[in-house]
Amino acid sequence: MNLENYIRDIQDFPKPGIVFKDITPLLLSPEGRNQCLQQLVAAGAKHPIDKVVGVESRGFFFGTLVADRLQAGFVPVRKPRKLPFQTLSESYALEYGTDSLEIHADAIQPGDRVLIHDDVLATGGTAAAVCRLVERLGGEVVLCSFLMELTFLNGRQQLDNRPIHAVMTY
Ligand code: AMP
Repeated sequence: MNLENYIRDIQDFPKPGIVFKDITPLLLSPEGRNQCLQQLVAAGAKHPIDKVVGVESRGFFFGTLVADRLQAGFVPVRKPRKLPFQTLSESYALEYGTDSLEIHADAIQPGDRVLIHDDVLATGGTAAAVCRLVERLGGEVVLCSFLMELTFLNGRQQLDNRPIHAVMTY
């Protein structure tokens, strides 16, 4: 089945005017999940990867699976005050509001080759903030990996020339 068939559009969630891309039907399907994972792993396997960084919270589902398949470490990037150890923080603008994200200061070593994973690339503010966190710790962003890219929001512009892969594009 087409992977797009596992993505459910929710109109006006969480705010009027937003079409929310709901991945829970994809998570429900072992077949869909596996097909998606294979594509994410194939894109990641083109580069040597030391760490996979997953973005809270929907970047955790496939992020850990990709890290496992690539035999890389997994690093959670989380909302403020969730991580218990020493953290670095970056602010970002979201399609619906502003927030900041944190990473553990010892999660990335200088020279680490990093794959960043999240469910949706929208305006790109979130992924750009995660790139800054990784790069402040001396990591190299080798690939920004998404389930979906909403191309009409031009998120790519925020990511400068960093390589991007998305399983689905809208
Ligand atoms: P952005 O910073 O605008 O690229 O937004 C990306 C982040 O917000 C990701 O972590 C997504 O989970 C979430 N997000 C933004 N827009 C949507 C959308 N239309 N549907 C689902 N998630 C979204």
